[in-house]
Order: sequence, then C-alpha cells, then structure tokens
Amino acid sequence: MAEIRLEGVAHSYDGGGTWALKPMTWTWRTGRAYALLGPSGCGKTTLLNIVSGLLTPTRGRIWFDDREVTGVPPAGRNIAQVFQFPVLYDQMSVYDNLAFPLRNRGYPRQEVDRRVRRVSGLLGLDEHLRRRSRRLDPGRQQIVALGRGLVRPEVAAVLLDEPLTVVDPAMKWTLRSKLKEIHRDTGHTLVYVTHDQTEALTFADEVVVLNDGEIVQAGEPGELFLSPAHEFVGHFIGSPGMNVLDGAVAGGLVRVGDAAVGRASGDLPPGPVRIGVRPEFVRLTSEEAPPGIAARVTGIDRMGAYDLVHAQVNGHPLVARTDAAAVREPGSVTFLRFAEGRAFLFRDAVRCGVV
Ligand code: ATP
Repeated sequence: MAEIRLEGVAHSYDGGGTWALKPMTWTWRTGRAYALLGPSGCGKTTLLNIVSGLLTPTRGRIWFDDREVTGVPPAGRNIAQVFQFPVLYDQMSVYDNLAFPLRNRGYPRQEVDRRVRRVSGLLGLDEHLRRRSRRLDPGRQQIVALGRGLVRPEVAAVLLDEPLTVVDPAMKWTLRSKLKEIHRDTGHTLVYVTHDQTEALTFADEVVVLNDGEIVQAGEPGELFLSPAHEFVGHFIGSPGMNVLDGAVAGGLVRVGDAAVGRASGDLPPGPVRIGVRPEFVRLTSEEAPPGIAARVTGIDRMGAYDLVHAQVNGHPLVARTDAAAVREPGSVTFLRFAEGRAFLFRDAVRCGVV
C-alpha cells in the first residue's frame, strides 16, 4: 500500500473553460480509510479516476510513495477499484471471481484459498461460493465485487466509487461495519467516494469534503460535525444541517438584530458575520434574560426520540433539536441560547471565530 500525493492537480473536461477540479495539493496517507464526500457533480469521480489512472489530469502531478504515476495507465498503478455497479466475470463462480486477482498475481493455491475464505466469511458469502455470480441478485453481486476489490493485500490503494448504491438499505449498515473490519485487517490505503454523509461518517478514519471541485475541509468524522471550518460543511453534514443567521460583531459582542448572543473569540474586526449553529446546540428557554434571542415557533416535527422545533429569528428560519418532552406550540414565542463554543462565525463562508 502506498501514500498517494497530489501536487497542484486540476482537471477540465473542456480545455480550460470550466474546471471540474480546481488545483489541489493533497496527501492520502498510507493505510488510512478516507471517505470522499460531496454532492452530485462536485468532482468526486473525477478525482478518483485521476488517482486510478482512468483520467490524466489537465494539470499537476501524482505520486505513489516516491514513484511519479502521472500519465501511467491503471494497469501500471497496482490499484483495486470497485464501481457503483458490479463488474464481475458472469460465468465464473463467486469463489473464482474472488480468487481471480490473487491467481492473476501468482499467489500460491493455499494462500488464495485462505484469503478468499477470509473475505467471503466477513462479507457473508460462504454459502454462495459455488454459485455462478450471474445467478446472484445485483446487491449480492456488488458484495462479491467489493470482496474482489479487497482480497489482494499488496495493492497500492483500494478505490471505491459509491460501492453500496445497489445494495439493499438494510444490508448497508452491516456491510459498512464489515468493510471497517476488513480494512483493519488489511490496512489498505482506501478511498471511498460517497454523497451520503452517514456512509462517510460511519466508515472513514478521515472524511474529505469536496464542493465545487475544491476540498473545503478534511478531518475525523466528529470534527467535521463539531467544528465545521466552512459554511458548506455545516450545511452538508448533519440532519438537518447547520442553521445560519445574519449577524454582526461590534465591541467584541456578536449580535443578531438587537440581541447579543455572546462574545466573539479572538480579535475579530467589527462588521457583518454569518452565525452558524447546529440544531443540536440551540437551547430553547422561556427566559428572556440575556443572551436569549426571541424566536417565534412556526412548527414542530415530532420525531419520536426528539422534536425538531422550527422557528423564525429576526426574519431567518432556524431549527432546534430538543428533548421530546419539551412542549412548544406553533405561534408561541420562545427564547434561544447557543451552547457555549458551539456557534461559529463565518466571513466569505470560511470560519473566522467562535461564540
Ligand atoms: P456524481 O456523484 O453525480 O457522480 P461527482 O461528484 O462524482 O458527481 P464528477 O462526475 O466528477 O462529480 O463531475 C464533476 C463535474 O465534471 C460535473 O460538472 C460534471 O458534469 C463534469 N463531468 C464529469 N464527467 C465529464 C465528462 N466525461 N465530460 C464532461 N464533463 C464531465
């Protein structure tokens, strides 16, 4: 397995008119499991195909450890790639499909058998090993494709592009934890492309968030949730995402309309700011005492374990996630507080302070 380095990599499909990937310098560290997370069209597949060699970047260079691979085709990169839909040898048995990458590299028979059975056991394929792969349903075929991608220990990297799309939703949870287990076993450098935050947050050691062809933040799953560095990350991660209110900093205080919501960290120059706070960190209270902000309740979603309280604050919609026992009525006035250190200030979408 290898460390994969991108130096100033950028890609345009139309000769420089628009950039699907803007220049990026980035390292995928050896043995870590990364999720590459972002909305449709943000450039995830483009980036993955550049790593695999299916695409040569318009600009920049790629290194696998000390070897430059820019322009080297996929076959010369020693990577395993799993696509959104199963790519298997239809006529072969599941066993032979799993064994193929190992036999192809000359692994001894016993070693082939040991590795096939290990992966098959972890992915729940044991009872299907003798069946032809085309006889399996598409979800199960995709699990075989995953197994095939993960079976070879010495690949430079394993690249997975939305690998669970065709898998039954109920199986996804099980498979994600299985994938994690296999990864702990093999220690591959692994890049997992998804637009699904749950998939990214539950699977990866590190999540790389891509938006509009740029990496906007990378970090451990909890860090992205608790400490978004960019407004986009706040919106995209979380369910529902981060609330954003227009406010201002003056004399060290952060205000929304007339209400002071707290003190800004550091020496933030006065002026307008956007205040981002997750629904989980908005507290509702009946007290006006500062730093409470008046809000009118506009609706309540009863989710069972908790309520989502929708409110209007100074002309902005806001959602608070509260204990289901808290009773509020649409139309009532409530007061909001933000958990200390959990509201973030943004200028030009980039975080510049904390309240
Ligand atoms: P999705 O999740 O929908 O697959 P993505 O994040 O993987 O999206 P890409 O497929 O990498 O995004 O696309 C990034 C941008 O490049 C998009 O604007 C897309 O329209 C464009 N694009 C992708 N492939 C091509 C192509 N072969 N020719 C021209 N433009 C392309």
